Amino acid sequence: MSESAYNPYKNAQAQFDKVASIIGLDEGTREFLRQPMREYHFTIPVQMEDGSTKIFNGYRIQHNDARGPAKGGIRFHPQETIDTIRALAMWMTWKCAVVDIPLGGGKGGIICDPRSLTEKEQERLCRGYVRKIAKDMGPCLDVPAPDVMTNAKHMLWMLDEFETIHGGRYPGFITGKPVGMGGSLGRTEATGFGVIYTLREALKALNIKPEDTTASIQGFGNVAQYAALLYQQLGGRVIAVSCWDFADNQSYTFRKKDGLDVVALQGIVDSFGSLDKDKARDLGCEILPGEDWLAQEVDILIPAALENQITQANVNKISSQVKVIAEGANGPTTPDVDEIIKERNIFMIPDFLANAGGVTCSYFEQVQSNTNFYWEKDEVLEKLDLKMTAAFKAVWELAQQRNLYMRDAAYVISINRVAQAVKMRGWV
Ligand code: GLU
Repeated sequence: MSESAYNPYKNAQAQFDKVASIIGLDEGTREFLRQPMREYHFTIPVQMEDGSTKIFNGYRIQHNDARGPAKGGIRFHPQETIDTIRALAMWMTWKCAVVDIPLGGGKGGIICDPRSLTEKEQERLCRGYVRKIAKDMGPCLDVPAPDVMTNAKHMLWMLDEFETIHGGRYPGFITGKPVGMGGSLGRTEATGFGVIYTLREALKALNIKPEDTTASIQGFGNVAQYAALLYQQLGGRVIAVSCWDFADNQSYTFRKKDGLDVVALQGIVDSFGSLDKDKARDLGCEILPGEDWLAQEVDILIPAALENQITQANVNKISSQVKVIAEGANGPTTPDVDEIIKERNIFMIPDFLANAGGVTCSYFEQVQSNTNFYWEKDEVLEKLDLKMTAAFKAVWELAQQRNLYMRDAAYVISINRVAQAVKMRGWV
């Protein structure tokens, strides 16, 4: 992240600029959309268990809210950077637009390592974050959600602080709440399942049967786990997953050539997505270097960890067998590598389309919270499937018609929708 030679914000702007030129976007709109509308940078003092006070840095970035309130997660990460959040906020705008939900794009983050904080310290950090931003966020302004290393528990502390400050119940302030406390059934599964709904449609379009395919997945956090589960249910075989080992400060790939037992792996993973190596060996996994997930002889690659993972330095490791890349993470592929993937004829399901299931379910959660009426899980997942499938088909059809790379086609749809909203409001 911060040490990376790749700056995600520059990548996001490069992707945007390319498509802005393809569609001939006027100068004013282009300048307006290639940077965030608003940024908040603040400090969060937290009283630690040992009595000391530690100061954390927090950020919230609202990229665009022309189509609806800004929407996007809050990340906890020790190497968080402002440019990463800027990029992620921008990608949220395109993500909400590509699935056509009435929301804009935002993202937040706190530089911290939650694994080194006690429950109480994490709670104070969440509440401290909301105290700094409570006047500038809200159901009609900007709605946060879980993201890297944040979860439903963090969301509820944030909601409680917001409601204490504003004096009332505002379940629409935040999504990814615990089920029974305003959360939606299916929200946990939504991002990973959404990746597979789009993958299923891609395979259909390419005339490939899921049961004839194998996959390698980077990551084993929430997105990767549910993507792996649903892919397996469709008949595919997950050959490898990788994860970060915090104790060793490096990543590992866990491989089983005849297929991993995803449910068994879920039994040996911690809440930050790290697998227990000894228990994995007992399950018959080979343990390989972290980067090996990319070099597997599989049909499908699913990067579902962090940004900047498929770069010039490793793209040549991708096997000639790979037919599809489904980006579960945000920004896992750098723009220079897109060219190579295109040349190699690998079908790309771009991040802001593939992983839009999370925010789509967040939107369903808002609808349920606003009407105070909660849907059954099947109903949520059915609606999610419909939305993801429709979005995939629209992007695929445009890509076919105009002979565009899938990422560019998705951008054309999103940028046009957002640009139209911005113009209709008379902002540019
Ligand atoms: N953090 C998720 C994402 O990157 C979900 C955002 C949301 O639900 O608002 O899409």
